[in-house]
Amino acid sequence: MHFGFDEDEESFRLELRRFATKTLAPHYQSDDKAATFRRELALEMAAMGLTGLRIPEEYGGQQASAVVAGLAAEEVGRADFNAGYLIINTALISDILVRNATAEQKQAWLPGIASGETVPCICITEPGHGTDAANLELKAVRDDGLTDEGGWRLHGEKTSITLGMAADRAVVLARTGAPGARGVSAFWVDLHTEHVSRAAFDDLGGRAIGRASLHFDGAPVTRSDLIGAEGEGFVSVMQGFDYSRAIIGLACLGAAQVSLEEAFQWARDREAFGQPIGKFQGVSFPLAEYATYVRGARHVCYEALWKKDHDLEHGVEAAMAKFWAPKLSTEVIHQCLLTFGHLAYSTESALGQRLRDVIGLEIGDGTAQVSKLVIARNLLGRAYAP
Ligand SMILES: Cc1cc2nc3c(=O)[nH]c(=O)nc-3n(C[C@H](O)[C@H](O)[C@H](O)COP(=O)(O)OP(=O)(O)OC[C@H]3O[C@@H](n4cnc5c(N)ncnc54)[C@H](O)[C@@H]3O)c2cc1C
Repeated sequence: MHFGFDEDEESFRLELRRFATKTLAPHYQSDDKAATFRRELALEMAAMGLTGLRIPEEYGGQQASAVVAGLAAEEVGRADFNAGYLIINTALISDILVRNATAEQKQAWLPGIASGETVPCICITEPGHGTDAANLELKAVRDDGLTDEGGWRLHGEKTSITLGMAADRAVVLARTGAPGARGVSAFWVDLHTEHVSRAAFDDLGGRAIGRASLHFDGAPVTRSDLIGAEGEGFVSVMQGFDYSRAIIGLACLGAAQVSLEEAFQWARDREAFGQPIGKFQGVSFPLAEYATYVRGARHVCYEALWKKDHDLEHGVEAAMAKFWAPKLSTEVIHQCLLTFGHLAYSTESALGQRLRDVIGLEIGDGTAQVSKLVIARNLLGRAYAP
């Protein structure tokens, strides 16, 4: 057994720590206050290779392992949790495109994601279908007059879309056939068209990234925008979610870990009743417990990613990572905030913002219940699925 990163991974981690501390961290709170997506952020992340981590070199990417994508999310999550969304989104989306698109489509689509010029989003959730995504209703209606090879027009609404106000292109799941998962196809859709309108959410956290509802009112798509085969979109897109759940876990744990480090330092520095508060076990024990849980959850995340890299089944570990890490991180950051006392209750402190930001990923990409369904089904057997 071997714990730890190899030499290349470790030097990338250190390089990222420097980049994130110098370039990302100073904007974490000001971007939240501005509550708009800063376009330069995508270009800065791209210049570090962070938007092309899972894209093959021939398409301008880094061709990095899943473990390295997780490591990047963890490091960025420490400095600017919201910038981590760019890693989560681009890793998930480029993985879907790499696995399902034709060589011609990859050539047309992937370099823009790697260079940060194309900000992508993924559109699955609808007002009536979140967890129950297989029954989504947004319709792709055949329009054979659109091009020689025919096409479709998209009609319906997607909601709760990360980066929905800023994104240039989207993976959109739409119904092209019968009810259920097998009637769903995936398209790569240009969002800069008069047939798409957007409305922003006013969110608790993730404000520098934003979520939006997207209304598709006859947006045209052709065969060359179809990702994979017609009717196979749901399955091919959902397969990508497995490993991205572990990446999400690490982004959350990065924010939790840095909060713990700050709280331990505060426990050394802050005095009450004539001694450092770290001497009181009421202060040190919760921090010790959470440091232990964070380490455990981190191992589960990296195990999922390592298994993905070795073509091993990793759905259960990814589900464990997704249900545990965001929830744990929320609890850890809350505890750290309490350790600081009144000072951290001010918006001057990053802790309150981290708490607001991390809660979003308890829901985004699937709730804890969905992950537990996956874990339980696997441990009990399919016969016990509800
Ligand atoms: C920060 C954030 C970012 C997001 N980004 C995106 C994005 O980029 N693209 C996108 O398509 N969507 C995105 N989403 C939407 C997200 O995927 C959905 O919110 C999620 O799948 C849950 O759907 P829902 O909110 O409609 O809840 P519902 O499905 O209505 O569920 C409500 C509650 O019931 C529980 N529940 C539902 N079914 C079951 C069941 N069978 N067993 C037990 N419990 C159940 C759920 O766990 C939840 O607690 C994002 C959400 C957030 C908060």
